[in-house]
Amino acid sequence: MAVEHDILLSPYTSWCVGGVADRLYRVADLDALSQFLSTVAPEEPLLWIGKGSNLLVRDGGFRGTVILLSEGADTLKWLPDQALYAEAGVALSRLSRFAHTEDQHQLDFLAGIPGSVGGALAMNAGAFGGEIWQQVASVEVMNRQGQRKSVGPEAYKIGYRSVEAVDQQEPHWFVAAHFKLGEKRVEESAVLKQQLKQRNQSQPMAQYSCGSVFRNPQGDHAGRLIEAAGLKGECIGAACVSEQHANFIVHSGGASAGEIEALILHVQHQVEAQSGVRLQTEVKIVGEA
Ligand SMILES: Cc1cc2nc3c(=O)[nH]c(=O)nc-3n(C[C@H](O)[C@H](O)[C@H](O)COP(=O)(O)OP(=O)(O)OC[C@H]3O[C@@H](n4cnc5c(N)ncnc54)[C@H](O)[C@@H]3O)c2cc1C
Repeated sequence: MAVEHDILLSPYTSWCVGGVADRLYRVADLDALSQFLSTVAPEEPLLWIGKGSNLLVRDGGFRGTVILLSEGADTLKWLPDQALYAEAGVALSRLSRFAHTEDQHQLDFLAGIPGSVGGALAMNAGAFGGEIWQQVASVEVMNRQGQRKSVGPEAYKIGYRSVEAVDQQEPHWFVAAHFKLGEKRVEESAVLKQQLKQRNQSQPMAQYSCGSVFRNPQGDHAGRLIEAAGLKGECIGAACVSEQHANFIVHSGGASAGEIEALILHVQHQVEAQSGVRLQTEVKIVGEA
């Protein structure tokens, strides 16, 4: 697949905002990606995108090459001994359903998260007490030259919505994961249905968002602090703090990345002024203003 030039990134993020990338490479499969990376100049900035559901791309876009994984790299298969192989572009909903239909429920908590396996590994995505890395036996990573290798979870410092390579020289691009699932258990679909219902009731699903904007500070909830600061419903331009879930910034079309980022900074400032807590963003902010 050839590299495309001057591609608008807003269709590739769940906020549907963001400017133009100089170059975009759509990953068809991992061999092609490996081949492509071996041709990329070492100084070229790279931005890896899965489903763009935790990403704010600024209005000025991205000066470099976007590696878009969510349209390919989607092999998903069982291996012996209840192990599951999933490539980075696999949607979490598909992964979760695939395991669920074989009476494996360890990945049920991922069902309602609108990301990809690669993005979830990068973020240690989680919900309802589960986190993706709790189920990972090993991951396959790729370096800038397109070389692949398999590493275990011990190669990473894994925390709440954070994953850092122990050795900073190690590649941090995830191209696949092996999940080691345990015993099969029959009939847990009621739990899954309840979790999806709870998500639908508590989150503004009909508007554009990136999920939770801020990480929960130790022992508290970002949403509670934002609500206590009186910021529910606060807007800058078309971007608003959700009335339904205060840790979501939403819009119904027409917001710019600049408005969203300005609202993020405003919320951070107001919450700190009221409670003394400096909220840290969970969402990744990239690109040129
Ligand atoms: C409505 C809604 C609900 C959400 N609920 C939850 C929730 O309950 N729990 C939760 O944890 N998150 C939630 N999220 C946030 C988001 O879905 C997760 O963080 C998800 O794992 C991001 O995956 P992605 O493929 O969209 O990543 P992207 O947004 O594409 O990327 C996120 C980050 O990971 C990097 N990245 C992407 N792919 C790779 C890769 N292959 N290798 C290395 N780095 C990579 C990107 O460069 C970026 O820094 C929600 C989002 C929305 C919109």
